[in-house]
Amino acid sequence: MSLLVCRTLRQASGLRPTAKIQPRSVRAASTAAGPAFDWTDPLASKSILTEDELAIAETAERYSQEQLLPRVLQAYRDEHYDPKILEEMGDLGLLGATIEGYGCAGVSTVAGALITRAVERVDSGYRSGMSVQSSLVMGGIYEHGSQEQKEKHLPLMARGKSIGAFGLTEPNHGSDPGSMETVAKPHPTKTGYFSLSGSKTWITNSPIADVLLVWAKLQSTGKIRGFLVERSVCPPGTLETPAIKNKNGLRASITGMIHLDGCPVPEANMFPEVEGLRGPFSCLNSARYGISLGVMGALEDAIARAREYALERKQFKGNPLAKYQLIQKKLADAATDAAYGTLAAIQVGRLKDQGLATPEMISMIKRRNCDVALSNARVLQEIFGGNAVSDEYMIGRHVANLFVTQTYEGQSDIHSLILGRAITGVQAFA
Ligand SMILES: Cc1cc2nc3c(=O)[nH]c(=O)nc-3n(C[C@H](O)[C@H](O)[C@H](O)COP(=O)(O)OP(=O)(O)OC[C@H]3O[C@@H](n4cnc5c(N)ncnc54)[C@H](O)[C@@H]3O)c2cc1C
Repeated sequence: MSLLVCRTLRQASGLRPTAKIQPRSVRAASTAAGPAFDWTDPLASKSILTEDELAIAETAERYSQEQLLPRVLQAYRDEHYDPKILEEMGDLGLLGATIEGYGCAGVSTVAGALITRAVERVDSGYRSGMSVQSSLVMGGIYEHGSQEQKEKHLPLMARGKSIGAFGLTEPNHGSDPGSMETVAKPHPTKTGYFSLSGSKTWITNSPIADVLLVWAKLQSTGKIRGFLVERSVCPPGTLETPAIKNKNGLRASITGMIHLDGCPVPEANMFPEVEGLRGPFSCLNSARYGISLGVMGALEDAIARAREYALERKQFKGNPLAKYQLIQKKLADAATDAAYGTLAAIQVGRLKDQGLATPEMISMIKRRNCDVALSNARVLQEIFGGNAVSDEYMIGRHVANLFVTQTYEGQSDIHSLILGRAITGVQAFA
């Protein structure tokens, strides 16, 4: 652990080198009458986290609450994303945190997801920018890149000095990326180069990205391959990344298109071995895992804000809203779903580190956690009455954001079909 980033992360969080399960005495708050119920962690998920994981979560929570929360409201109003956020995260070792080496911290899968939960407690857009950098692009390079590609890109990306984007979705092919039209063929004039042409849309970070991981079909084989498109060396007119403006969700992140028009990309920038949908899907698997715990952060923030509001707001004979049964049921439903979703995500993370997690498990928790985060946040929104319409109450933003999390990285119904296929053995996609 001699790397600066790892040291910074560990120093900031007071980490010990070996992961230990919490001793019984600190597993849960207790009183003489027995253990106390903690509404912020109803099923005591902290008791199954290691000391390292608790410390990493605390570092990420502190950064998110102190540095991200104060600026999210204005950023969301202005539809503005400050790329310095990635540098700040890089300074703390939060980027590509599960990667071993290359300036990354090498933490457990669960610890990586606790970082996404902390960031998403503030805003799903901030978490999206980070997930694309960490899981989709850095994770993709780490898993499928050549040694040269890893050494060139990962250390810079870990520090947030180079920004990544992941280009899979196309205007005509979203849920069905296997039909993509973006193509890579031998460059007509440059030996040792491919020529990439095609369009990608709804791409997080694309307008500000230095490295764009673009998935395209190799003309000679018809197979999907991954290409690292480096903006700084693309000739004028061969790469355009216009922003998509006026979004009504994820406004604190930046989203755009990728237009490639005969863009020359060195053969050395293609991932050397992986081909077919296995390439993008393996990257998505890690990102989807992070989302499953990330959205629990957004839901937990919605619960905390709704609870506080219900305790303060008085209606009918001076009673706080919290006194009414219908209000309590909404909070009880949401807290239950957040607690179940958190435990399920931790379980799958543990299995992932043991090499025992299947893509279907990740489909299950991504789908379920995104669905319950959205549906509960939407119901909790009602507790705020008319004030829910004011962005200062921070609830409408979560609801709008959570629609996107349910849609991207496999819309929930698509994950149902993945699970349905695994259960029945029958393919229902087409
Ligand atoms: C803010 C934002 C950021 C994004 N960031 C990225 C990114 O960084 N990189 C990237 O590559 N993509 C990104 N996406 C794209 C996202 O992954 C796609 O929007 C998503 O995969 C859905 O594709 P689509 O929008 O084309 O919808 P469609 O595929 O057209 O689906 C529309 C609806 O039809 C349903 N449907 C489709 N096929 C079937 C079927 N066979 N059976 C039943 N129902 C079906 C879907 O479930 C969905 O409800 C982003 C999207 C947004 C909104």
